[in-house]
Amino acid sequence: MLFDNPDAMLICAFKRDNALCEPDPDATAPRQYDCRPGCGNAVRTDTHARQLLARADEIDQLAASTPGPLGKRLRINANKLRATADTHDATAQPAEAIA
Ligand code: SF4
Repeated sequence: MLFDNPDAMLICAFKRDNALCEPDPDATAPRQYDCRPGCGNAVRTDTHARQLLARADEIDQLAASTPGPLGKRLRINANKLRATADTHDATAQPAEAIA
C-alpha cells in the first residue's frame, strides 16, 4: 500500500516489518509524522528530488542569517537533503524498470 508523504517529500511503500517509524505490531499504515531518513520503504520521484533541493536552498538562506551552532546545524541539514537528492539522481530507475 502506498502513502503519499509530502512533508517528507516521498511516497511510503509501507511494509510494516521494514518501517523505521516504529508502527504498532498490527499497524496497516505508517506513522508518517515520524518518518525517518534511510527507511527502505521510501520511494522518491524526480519531483521529490527537486523539492529536496529547493528545501535545501531555503534552509541555507536561513542559515546565512543564523549565527553559531544553529546556523551550522541548518547547513548540515541542507547538505543532508542535497545528499538524498543526489542519491536519488544516481540510483533512479524509470517506472517501467520496476513495474
Ligand atoms: S519511516 Fe517513513 S518511509 Fe518508512 S515506513 Fe515510516 S513513513 Fe514510511
